[in-house]
Amino acid sequence: MISILNYINGEFVKSSSGKTLQNLSPSDGQVYSELPRSSKADIDIAVKTAQNAFCSWSNTELNERAKLMLCIADLIEEDLENLAMAESIDNGKPLGLAKSVDIPRAASNFRFFAHALTQFNSESHENQGLNNINFTLRKAMGVVGCISPWNLPLYLLTWKIAPALAAGNCVVAKPSEVTPMTAYLLCKICKNAGLPKGVLNIVHGLGPEAGQALIEHPKVKAISFTGGTETGKRIASTAAPMFKKLSLELGGKNPNLIFADCDYEKMLTTTLRSSFANQGQICLCGSRVFVEQSIYETFKKDFVNRVKALKVGHPTKDNFDLGAVVSLEHLKKVTAYIEEAKTDKHMKILYGGNRMNLKKYPNGYYLEPCIIEVKNNKCNLNQQEIFGPVVSLMPFETEEEALGLANDSAYGLSATVWTQNLNRSMRLSQQLEAGIIWINTWLNRDLRTPFGGTKQSGVGREGGFEALRFFTEPKNICIDYN
Ligand code: NDP
Repeated sequence: MISILNYINGEFVKSSSGKTLQNLSPSDGQVYSELPRSSKADIDIAVKTAQNAFCSWSNTELNERAKLMLCIADLIEEDLENLAMAESIDNGKPLGLAKSVDIPRAASNFRFFAHALTQFNSESHENQGLNNINFTLRKAMGVVGCISPWNLPLYLLTWKIAPALAAGNCVVAKPSEVTPMTAYLLCKICKNAGLPKGVLNIVHGLGPEAGQALIEHPKVKAISFTGGTETGKRIASTAAPMFKKLSLELGGKNPNLIFADCDYEKMLTTTLRSSFANQGQICLCGSRVFVEQSIYETFKKDFVNRVKALKVGHPTKDNFDLGAVVSLEHLKKVTAYIEEAKTDKHMKILYGGNRMNLKKYPNGYYLEPCIIEVKNNKCNLNQQEIFGPVVSLMPFETEEEALGLANDSAYGLSATVWTQNLNRSMRLSQQLEAGIIWINTWLNRDLRTPFGGTKQSGVGREGGFEALRFFTEPKNICIDYN
């Protein structure tokens, strides 16, 4: 049994109460590690520690700060095999995906913000006639809180921690209790890299306990949260009256609009990925697939055939396309939507949706990828975030209808459009209600670009200088030189 520990003030420690939680591997449903069930007391210690480290860290010369972060990036890359295996066991994602996406991206997050911090500049405004000049400093805020979900554990945790540290803040982070392993391993890397004590603190535990205590702590100046919309609402209701700076990256129900004039083969291959990568547990997955009527039947047949060929299996073995869903609780949530579809006469399951009992791993959380044809965008299946290997298919006749269907959602994270018509792609880009639009591509990420959603998909943007602006407080200075 592996014992995961909190990382506070550069030391690995148990929760102050000694309480623990069990950590199960989705691949076989067995407990394989335990983690601290931390409470307010642990958060208080971590925040105090971070406060003590702040003066020195925020005054560390930029190149020195960048050097440390580059060292962390290098060590993540050196440990890629180990980290990828840990992520795959903890989350259920195929090992190949963890090796090619999750862990390299965690290293890139540190590397990107190490470089960005040396390029981050601030504005000055001179008023020549009046002989005065304003310039704006961007000051580190102090202690900031980072809360991340289970779907891309190290990838999303580092996407928050790296800009927060780069901007000169000290961090208290709470990773998802469902996937704590790589956050723990990251602490070992940070210690080996020589990150000073107290600059990064990771406290494990339950959202409503350790997470809530972090949100409520009066000395925590900003909260960067990625997770579900309901949790986001709860966090905002606590943090907003305390006037904390908030970045909320929440759920999505992203449309994938496929027009008859698309590059069909590229679209089909990418749509397979945008539907089922990471068992559909990526906030950017295109879970509502809308197809132009003239190619609908052809697409339906081809898509079903391609999905039938996907291999589901133990995440760390062989080269499976899909691994296990993250937890039993989540599996039950996803299958409840599939059960609903079975009894609704407006829906038809075209393929999949059955729980799979793998011979050697009968207690693993395996689910066939599922395609459901729907007649109406108003159904739960198309309005609620399922966050699993389930997509809906629906035809449309006109561009206007496609746009209406896409925007008929409480969410607005991303949208994908497949068309070779440049004018149409521009028209739709302007009118789609989403923070991220992909034309003829998906999950194509440049870390300099703003990342985030509109409507119930969140508030604020991560990425590039947006993230450094979020993690700093602007201070304007006006000098009169008359
Ligand atoms: P949750 O909202 O359940 O949890 C996210 C994090 O918040 C976890 O660490 C959780 O801890 C913690 N938490 C829960 N309750 C509280 C609380 N009261 N106070 C403070 N922290 C709390 O999301 P999931 O982990 O289930 O992740 C899936 C969701 O994340 C999906 O909705 C998905 O769309 C969204 N997501 C959004 C992305 C984006 O960029 N917009 C990217 C990736 C995912 P614990 O695990 O212990 O409950």
